[in-house]
Amino acid sequence: MKCERCLGPMVSERVLYQGRVFHMWKCLMCGDLIDWIILLNRSDPSLVEEALNEKSEEMFQEEVRSHCA
Ligand SMILES: [Zn+2]
Repeated sequence: MKCERCLGPMVSERVLYQGRVFHMWKCLMCGDLIDWIILLNRSDPSLVEEALNEKSEEMFQEEVRSHCA
């Protein structure tokens, strides 16, 4: 995954918002954020799958819970 603006490396990030987990991509170079809904709108389901498969949502929720405890 490369940034469309600067071609820098992007890392996947998960953001908890109103009880739902959103999968985002963040550029390490320019800080650009892309969420998977944008990717969906661009009709590139392979990228969405990539974001969702990296870690299951269940595992992520577990992680969030351990941080909140
Ligand atoms: Zn960038």
